[in-house]
Amino acid sequence: MTGTGDSMDAVGFDSTTGFLDRGGCLRTAVRLADASRKERQPLGALWLDLDRFKQVNESFGHLGGDAVIGRLAAQLRDEFSARAEICRMGGDEFVFLVPNCSRAQAEEVAGDVLRAVSQPIELGNIRLRPSGSIGVALFDPVEDPLSFLERADRAMIEAKRLGGGRYVISGDERVPGRLGVLLAREELAIESKIHLALESGGLTLHYQPIIHFDGSIEAVEALMRCNVAGESIPPSKIIPVAEKTGLIVRLGEWSMLNAAQHARHLSDLGLPTRVAVNVSRAQLTAPRFIEALYSAFYCADIAPELLELELTESLFMDISDTVQANLQAAKKAGVSLAIDDFGTGYSCLADLKNIPASKLKLDRAFIRVLPEDKRSLAVVRAIGQLARELGMIVVAEGVETVEQFELLADIGLDAVQGFHCARPMDGQALVAWLRNRR
Ligand code: C2E
Ligand code: CA
Ligand code: CA
Repeated sequence: MTGTGDSMDAVGFDSTTGFLDRGGCLRTAVRLADASRKERQPLGALWLDLDRFKQVNESFGHLGGDAVIGRLAAQLRDEFSARAEICRMGGDEFVFLVPNCSRAQAEEVAGDVLRAVSQPIELGNIRLRPSGSIGVALFDPVEDPLSFLERADRAMIEAKRLGGGRYVISGDERVPGRLGVLLAREELAIESKIHLALESGGLTLHYQPIIHFDGSIEAVEALMRCNVAGESIPPSKIIPVAEKTGLIVRLGEWSMLNAAQHARHLSDLGLPTRVAVNVSRAQLTAPRFIEALYSAFYCADIAPELLELELTESLFMDISDTVQANLQAAKKAGVSLAIDDFGTGYSCLADLKNIPASKLKLDRAFIRVLPEDKRSLAVVRAIGQLARELGMIVVAEGVETVEQFELLADIGLDAVQGFHCARPMDGQALVAWLRNRR
């Protein structure tokens, strides 16, 4: 595994992969750039960064991470060492310097590298499907080799921003306007606050009761609260950033575990109550979702029936095999499923019959305009009736007034959630609230 024939620690080479290291890369870029100017032949650089590699390190430790890099490096060497000088820039970043390379050839190599990277890798009994983001730059004879590499790096960042698993050619990126830059900054700030909260105990769950019209408790919904250095950041800011960066998987596991532990605590106090947890699409597309769910109820030692998963409607419209398998396994274990924010997505009522959920939560948008809006009222009534015929219970979200409460009771919905009955409250306040109702 070496490109020199010398020892693995040879200057200019990376000891894990045998590829050129950062210094070796820069020296080679200078040499190839000179040759490209003299011989008037094009030169390409591809900057590859693996997507979500941090998660591999976090889940399998650095030994697991190194094993993945080692296997990937062997494959890249086999396929590309005849065409390119391969460099490891550190961590999960690689650069390919491709002499005599037109734009079309650079695109072809980028496509080949993406394919090579996404070959499944077995790690123990887990099968990883890595993916990568690539930035491509074509050398401009008037630029210096460092700016040439920097352009490839920036294009790679754009490929990541577009969701990864693709290449972007330098010069084709959309230059972010001022607003784009400001938004990106804000997202980065939020991302770093999420990391801080995870490390410093700044995350908590609040609970909002869902109540039947006869006063009995259907469940409580766990809602995430994030507090960093005295500042509280609402879920509407946290969740989208967490979904974009993949952090949602860790946040989601954290929520499931903590919700399950609170369910245990409530049972121990003689107040057994089902706890509903919000689950994002990105969590359900991860094969390890089901292990995380099982560990939540095993670690907390509760019956799975005490947990419920709230899933947004859009998830059901385009169900992959992994999502399907995860949902079926959850249901089989005894965890119930609820469709959240119903009515905001694109499903038609007819789709309901294919969805393995036992509860439907009508979005606040329908309730907010009651009792005045007669059309919304008709929709609420019709959905309620259909859901009941399909054996699902129907919850109205965001009930704020006594008029709304009474109207929904008349229509015959099953339960309500909203400020009219109770606001979200911390775990301790929930215990007091539940005791009070007894
Ligand atoms: P959601 O699942 O629809 O949760 C209900 C939201 O409505 C909560 O906002 C709750 O505080 C608010 N709410 C409840 N009753 C009323 C009412 O009567 N009037 C009004 N105006 N609002 C009411 P919150 O806590 O800010 O959460 C916002 C969203 O963030 C949630 O919407 C959910 O989609 C997401 N979220 C919260 N926690 C988690 C979590 O742990 N994981 C995931 N994936 N998403 C979460
Ligand atoms: Ca919810
Ligand atoms: Ca909702």
